[in-house]
Amino acid sequence: TARRLHGIPPTIFSEMSALAVATGAVNLGQGFPDVDGPDEIIKEAVAALEGGRNQYAPGPGIPALREAVAAHQARHYGLTFDPAREVAVTTGATEGIAAAILALVDPGDEVILVEPYYDSYPAMVQFAGGVRRPVTLSLDPDAPGGRLPREALEAAASAKTTVLLLNSPHNPTGTVLTREELETVAAFARDHDLTVVSDEVYEHLTFDDTPHVPIATLPGMRERTLTLSSIGKSYSFTGWKVGWATGPEHLVQALLGAKQWLTFTSGAPLQPAAAYALEHLDHWPRELALDLQGRRDLLCGGLKEIGLDVTIPEGTYFAVSDIEPLGWADGLEFCRALPERAGVVAIPLQGFYDTDAGKHLVRWTFTKQREVIEEALERLTHGN
Ligand code: PMP
Ligand code: GLN
Repeated sequence: TARRLHGIPPTIFSEMSALAVATGAVNLGQGFPDVDGPDEIIKEAVAALEGGRNQYAPGPGIPALREAVAAHQARHYGLTFDPAREVAVTTGATEGIAAAILALVDPGDEVILVEPYYDSYPAMVQFAGGVRRPVTLSLDPDAPGGRLPREALEAAASAKTTVLLLNSPHNPTGTVLTREELETVAAFARDHDLTVVSDEVYEHLTFDDTPHVPIATLPGMRERTLTLSSIGKSYSFTGWKVGWATGPEHLVQALLGAKQWLTFTSGAPLQPAAAYALEHLDHWPRELALDLQGRRDLLCGGLKEIGLDVTIPEGTYFAVSDIEPLGWADGLEFCRALPERAGVVAIPLQGFYDTDAGKHLVRWTFTKQREVIEEALERLTHGN
């Protein structure tokens, strides 16, 4: 295999989902809902399939979806984008991440990643020949200077830094960066003249009225930020892989320059349905978030009772716990043994860190029905 693949381990999600299937364990590993999104949206997709929307869509995406994305950004965040030049449809946010990095990072360029990071980020930086510089996200909401303090950001920066990859609400920790924390990141990006690639796929999944602040809304940031999102989390269609990018024309066109050689165009019949979701079911993601909040409380309460030290997530599908109180030091060992010991699958965090700050941390998803979470907690109580 080519060197660009060397040293990149197979994704932990495949290993753990395969383990769940092989052992019949309850899968609180990979984050995907066990109930699909609204029927009304599925009907739109079926209508498009049956209605002749089966040939290539335009490279940047169908106009209706680009317009719906632009309207969404304006309605929720007051950000205005020209749907013709400043919005692009991607094959999930995953392709958005790939195309953004390939378009913006030259060999030898340094990219700042917040660790723990989503595992496609370091892989894409390596594909581009870039060098990743991790900044460790603190799990303490009261950390002095915020959870991403300026000193930590400065320590990761050099003259070769070109891009900072940000993700809030954050997978895997559930952290939703506050406006003040984002101001720190924004000032840092402006002072070092960095482009920010902001992965906001969990933008609507926040709890306890925690606001999601897109970094592009902060002063001086719209022109240097490429924002990514997708239909997957907001509407519970993770398998659809319809995503989008918004930003200033030069960044969106750069992304499209890479995307045209990756997929050229994204799946045509799901795009009208995604446009329909954004236009007609604007309230749906908030209802999902409210429901998820209850399941977060169920899972976190149960994990605490078992003796785990849990960080209560402010958003996303995930809660992170420290397994040391249970007498374990290594999350990967813990997660590999858990299906046999207790019949449950979780995700170790250490593969999402360059430092060993995550060795004892394990992620659990609560995007499952209450009965499934209850069953997992029951098993964990008796398996320990
Ligand atoms: N970024 C983050 C942080 C994620 O958790 C996910 C979900 N797998 C993605 C990107 C990928 O999104 P999509 O399914 O739209 O490609
Ligand atoms: N975002 C999901 C998670 O973190 C899915 C990951 C994946 O399928 N690569 O669990």
